[in-house]
Amino acid sequence: MHRRVRRPAVYLPLVALVIVAACATVPITGRKQLSIIPSGQLQSMSYDQYAEVLQTSPLSTDREATAMVKRVGARIQVAVEQYMAQQGLSGQLSGYQWEFNLLESDQVNAWCMPGGKVAFYTGILPICQGEAGIAVVMGHEIAHAIADHGGERMSQGLLTQFGGMALDQALSNKPEQTRALASTAFALGAQFGAVLPFSRLHESEADHMGLIFMAMAGYDPRQAPAFWERMAAGGGAKPPEFMSTHPSDETRIRKLNESMPDALRYYQP
Ligand SMILES: [Zn+2]
Repeated sequence: MHRRVRRPAVYLPLVALVIVAACATVPITGRKQLSIIPSGQLQSMSYDQYAEVLQTSPLSTDREATAMVKRVGARIQVAVEQYMAQQGLSGQLSGYQWEFNLLESDQVNAWCMPGGKVAFYTGILPICQGEAGIAVVMGHEIAHAIADHGGERMSQGLLTQFGGMALDQALSNKPEQTRALASTAFALGAQFGAVLPFSRLHESEADHMGLIFMAMAGYDPRQAPAFWERMAAGGGAKPPEFMSTHPSDETRIRKLNESMPDALRYYQP
């Protein structure tokens, strides 16, 4: 009995130390977040997984749509880079290897992994209804990467699973588990069902930042609520990135409208 009671007393200060020592700040929102994984390490895991996805999923053969996805991605990338430079935050983009691909798949999905690796699935294009809709999704997904949501989720997962074990020890001794954790944290595949905390917060934050990013890139942010309404109306089986961890559709649209004055300040047609 005694042992059980005393154990946390020994462990908790250690965990608290790690948290205090490993905080980062999200651009734009200024939220403090847990960050115990060096971005270089996160990016190399992300690049491996992205390469695997490209090996197993066919690229779209629709040249026009592919060009549109790449164009929107490049425009938002430039806007984000300019903003981060103005804020003195370019260091947070170091190691980025931006890439935008359109994959042939019925799934209504898109995502951006740490380091700027973006995939759109052709299944989401009918809901996008053109370039502005693609910009809504692109802004949202890139915001997840810029806000380091993958790193934050993985940091939380590591603390939960391995507790006091040092990070490098966990990565070298438990490669399978850390790999699984990474694909969960990066919102890939079916493992997303193992929901880690903060998901709704991450979604709202990505909505807010994404709205601003699309506006900075010259896309009208007022297109966003209509896109999410179309997404909500699409119904059916929702894919991982747009599953139940997202805020309810009504909440999302209300919050988007609250963010609109902010986003419009950055908007230059
Ligand atoms: Zn999202």
